[in-house]
Amino acid sequence: MSVDMSNIEPSKGGERWIACLCALLFPVLSMLTIEPARAENPLWVKQQAPFKIFGNTYYVGTRGLSSVLVTSNDGHVLIDGTLPQNASAIAANVRSLGFKIEDVKLILNSHAHSDHAGAIAELQRLSGAAVVSSAAGAAALRAGRGGKDDPQFEYGDSFPPVPAAQAVSDGETLHPNGAAITAHYTPGHTPGAMSWSWKSCEKERCLKLVYADSLNAVSDGSFKFTGDARYPSVLKDFEQSFRTVEALPCDILIAAHPEFADLWSHFERQQAGIADAFVDTSSCRGYAAAARKRLEQRVTQERTVAE
Ligand SMILES: [Zn+2]
Repeated sequence: MSVDMSNIEPSKGGERWIACLCALLFPVLSMLTIEPARAENPLWVKQQAPFKIFGNTYYVGTRGLSSVLVTSNDGHVLIDGTLPQNASAIAANVRSLGFKIEDVKLILNSHAHSDHAGAIAELQRLSGAAVVSSAAGAAALRAGRGGKDDPQFEYGDSFPPVPAAQAVSDGETLHPNGAAITAHYTPGHTPGAMSWSWKSCEKERCLKLVYADSLNAVSDGSFKFTGDARYPSVLKDFEQSFRTVEALPCDILIAAHPEFADLWSHFERQQAGIADAFVDTSSCRGYAAAARKRLEQRVTQERTVAE
């Protein structure tokens, strides 16, 4: 498919009505839409000064939730928005690097939970960017919540919807600004979960970067990874996703939850002046292997309880 980045003006009247309603309901909605466990994680809203990862790739997220900016002279790509209340902090991070939020032409999402998609509606409004995810991911973005096949559905997570969200196919490469960024479906954590890969260069040297979605088997109280009518293919999907991430060309890995790819120890190495602080060609394989192990533990636990 081709992603239409021109015709994405939201209807102004509707927007105003929603803005008005949100102003009235926001205090109530903010309590209802963020599950307590999420709201209690202070790192998810802890501001982090933005920094370069490599070449034209920058970290603009919070201390606990990733958001990544890939720049070019013809417009930028932003991956993930983090929580709704972080939108202005992310926009400020983009600006403090010397870039304009209005130059973000494309916003990509890993998966449609509030901790990764929550700020996308506002960042889309600020930038006018096109918003893209997998087919299932784009549907969830448009709805402002995942469907019943989301293993965490019963938590009731929701976020400001993104009516203009568009779908990209698995393996499709987008060329938003002369760059090339490839979509990889990595379902399991949600049915629409996505990872992204691209190349960043410094002078003649180009490295392969991966933004990997969460591969964690997390669920609400009733969901069973060992067999659940809500999402019967979840184990098969996870295994396919582990293989996808393991096989990606991968010099630098950034995970949707930064600590799962040791971002902060790499960052400290960079601060200490160590060259290539973020480069680890084994990181994608390690990331998938650790997630596979956690899923196996979860499956064993479910089967033990069932016995
Ligand atoms: Zn999630």
